[in-house]
Amino acid sequence: MTETALDANPHDLIASLGQRVLDGGRLARAEAEALFQLEDRADIFDLLSWANRIREQFKGNKIHLCSIVNIKAGGCSENCRFCSQSAAYQTESPRYGLVDAAPILAAADEAQSNGVTALGVVAAWRGLEEGPVLDALCDRLAELKAGGKARPDASLGIIKSQHIADRLKAAGLECYNHNLETSRRFFPEVCTTHSYDERLQTIRHLQQADIKICSGGILGLGETREDRCALAFALRDLGVHVVPINILNPIPGTPFGDREPLAPLEILKTIACFRFILPKQEIMIAGGRTANLRDLQSLIFMAGASALMVGNYLTTLNQPVEKDLQMLQDLGLDPGWDKHGFFDQREPSASPESQAPVGLPAPLPVAIDD
Ligand code: SF4
Repeated sequence: MTETALDANPHDLIASLGQRVLDGGRLARAEAEALFQLEDRADIFDLLSWANRIREQFKGNKIHLCSIVNIKAGGCSENCRFCSQSAAYQTESPRYGLVDAAPILAAADEAQSNGVTALGVVAAWRGLEEGPVLDALCDRLAELKAGGKARPDASLGIIKSQHIADRLKAAGLECYNHNLETSRRFFPEVCTTHSYDERLQTIRHLQQADIKICSGGILGLGETREDRCALAFALRDLGVHVVPINILNPIPGTPFGDREPLAPLEILKTIACFRFILPKQEIMIAGGRTANLRDLQSLIFMAGASALMVGNYLTTLNQPVEKDLQMLQDLGLDPGWDKHGFFDQREPSASPESQAPVGLPAPLPVAIDD
């Protein structure tokens, strides 16, 4: 792609970049940033249309569904400024200690009855250390796996050692969610009790343990479009498998409780840009979907989303699962997907400016270029 092409009219630029992705090529950072900067409604719908083609090419009509169960709520030591579960802020969010096995197994039953194949076990705390809590968690993951009703996934915060990641793998954990949240540049504006590098190190331990990575971020924190683009490139370089995109649902009492909501078209454009940058990953729309997109929710699939978090979120309500399933059926999409496309997600780390075509899957482990 030349300077001249970047200066081309948006219609031609979108088509040229979209065709390149369909042909197995990759976007350079400047090219992706040009897409994030699109403003005109007609151009944004052009972009969505190409993102839809890219999703259809790499994902067909399969949509992956996932649910979560909160196994320890509130009172978190960290100060993520969007989060109602931080002990640093006064919110209405519930607080309870580590639950026993029954609610987890009940959530697995519910997931299975909804046709949801993956259940994420989520806890509000800084992270995992060796000790009785880790022992209990490994037991619960093993029970979940043995039950066979939902694939055991988890989101349990920072992992300090390779041994902990290896124990999770041995317990049956298949996929771990650990979001980068935003760009490296903007991260200190979001959280100061842990660092972006601690998040990267957690992902390294998990990859080393051969656990699949679910990592994305949250939109609407006050980040720039360049920050969103930087996040997508960081995730591409990490070789993550699933990319959850959350949209801030401002919670009173948190420092970001008064953030202006993003316009729905800005959200849809961002999802489409992620699809251009991450053509093979599962792009999952997670928290904040209903509150921010309202009647435009179904357009997330045209914007390139291939996965959906269904059921309630950690601290806010989602629309009923039946409504989501009806939406998929009406769009001709199939929620019966259980593979995450795990076989084809890992790609070689590449410089953000790389335009080389995407090749065959890289051998494990993937080098992380941060
Ligand atoms: S996002 Fe997670 S780590 Fe941050 S405050 Fe909330 S529960 Fe704690």
